[in-house]
Amino acid sequence: MVDIQRNKTRPVRIGTVTIGDSNPIAVQSMTATKTTDVDATVQLIQLMHDAGADVIRIAVDSRKDAAALAEIRKQTPANLSVDLQENYRLAEIVAPHVDKIRYNPGHLYHHETEKPWQEKVRFIAALAADHDCAIRVGVNCGSVDPAKKEKYDADDSITPMLESALEHCQFLDSLDFTRYCVSLKDSDPSKVVEVNRRFAANRPDVPLHLGVTEAGMPPDGVIKTRIAFEQLIGKGIGDTVRVSLTVPNARKGEEIAAGREIISDIYAGRVRSVVDFNTNSLNIISCPSCSRVENEAFVELAEQVKAMTEYAKEHAITIAVMGCRVNGPGETDDADLGLWCGPKVVNLKKGTEALGAFPYDEILPKLKSELDKLIGST
Ligand code: SF4
Repeated sequence: MVDIQRNKTRPVRIGTVTIGDSNPIAVQSMTATKTTDVDATVQLIQLMHDAGADVIRIAVDSRKDAAALAEIRKQTPANLSVDLQENYRLAEIVAPHVDKIRYNPGHLYHHETEKPWQEKVRFIAALAADHDCAIRVGVNCGSVDPAKKEKYDADDSITPMLESALEHCQFLDSLDFTRYCVSLKDSDPSKVVEVNRRFAANRPDVPLHLGVTEAGMPPDGVIKTRIAFEQLIGKGIGDTVRVSLTVPNARKGEEIAAGREIISDIYAGRVRSVVDFNTNSLNIISCPSCSRVENEAFVELAEQVKAMTEYAKEHAITIAVMGCRVNGPGETDDADLGLWCGPKVVNLKKGTEALGAFPYDEILPKLKSELDKLIGST
């Protein structure tokens, strides 16, 4: 297990689950049914609940959608979060029946345009407080506060998102409403990493909900999400996650399974990208493996590397072991020493420099010699 130092975020309770404050990272999913079809929605919630979802989000668009939540609540014990979409006033109808309210700062401009956003947030926060709900300030790349967007160059999509999230945190704090978390989602994993890192540097106390929006279908959607989560969770950032996958409702449990698998892989050092876990000791990472693995001996090799390098555990050196030529060459660039496996040989690298390709039964001594050199030079 990698000893990841989690950010010291404050606890935020959502029904029976608490995120932040070093609690296990909660895994969420979202329904894709109309709430007015109560049976279908309850069935989907049950499926996700059975799959182990800690929190299940439901979107409402109209007063009719919102009213259906009263009946849904009666039929499920799951922790429910509601997405207000563009109509903040629906909070009034849904708050008594849910555990968390998500609003998007960029959507507060669609209704009652003359009213300042602060008044709308005050309204949502008061309802949340009265009905024992948490709040998520959910900033999304596709719907950023227009006033924030105008302030920055069109090619800087990150600063407006960040500024909007920070401003809402400050405002909620000023209302003495601190039971909230924040999400900053983009469809580009690298932007998700950057914006969440910058936010966490500014507000390390605020729990973060991580996700890559519109990630797509598996396996690509899972891979994109995995890359972002590795770089964030590996640095202690993130208190709850959702893996957004384009799958039919009957397969929605896959979002939960993917979320749990990614988290447990990160903690086991099974990562696709090079992650610096901020530890001052040897960091051995190996990809989780997939259908692209070119030689079954990869898994055994990863274990052998771990055992062989045990003697160097006091040294802050990262060694990456990757299973194929598709991602191996690129993904090992950021490691101090990298191995990527081909069908017959293993390629050895020192940072971006290729050191040669060696048969599986010769690679360990070669790696050891490079490791010794590295230790000698530090
Ligand atoms: S490095 Fe290759 S084998 Fe390993 S997970 Fe990535 S694509 Fe699959």
